[in-house]
Amino acid sequence: MQPRKVHNRTYMAASNWTLSAWAIGKTQSAIKSGLLVRPDVCSMCASQGNRQNPILAHHDDYAKPIEVRWVCRECHKRLHYPLASGVSEELIRGNHDNQ
Ligand SMILES: [Zn+2]
Ligand SMILES: [Zn+2]
Repeated sequence: MQPRKVHNRTYMAASNWTLSAWAIGKTQSAIKSGLLVRPDVCSMCASQGNRQNPILAHHDDYAKPIEVRWVCRECHKRLHYPLASGVSEELIRGNHDNQ
């Protein structure tokens, strides 16, 4: 895996969506290969993940797909939309961190 090389070549040209899709793909293969391990608890609120509120990988920087923050879906909403309430699930799941 060579995220930095790919980053240099694609970052400027890629749309945000393409970059996030690329990062999520990298993250998912890292999870599959055991490089990243999904914890059982949210790193922000320490709640246990469950079907309603699963633990998701959040990227502070899509150019670093292996550097993720493991947060529950509720905290994840707050990370992306700190001022919004009642954020659409589709908005989050449709183009980001969809696992
Ligand atoms: Zn949480
Ligand atoms: Zn996120």
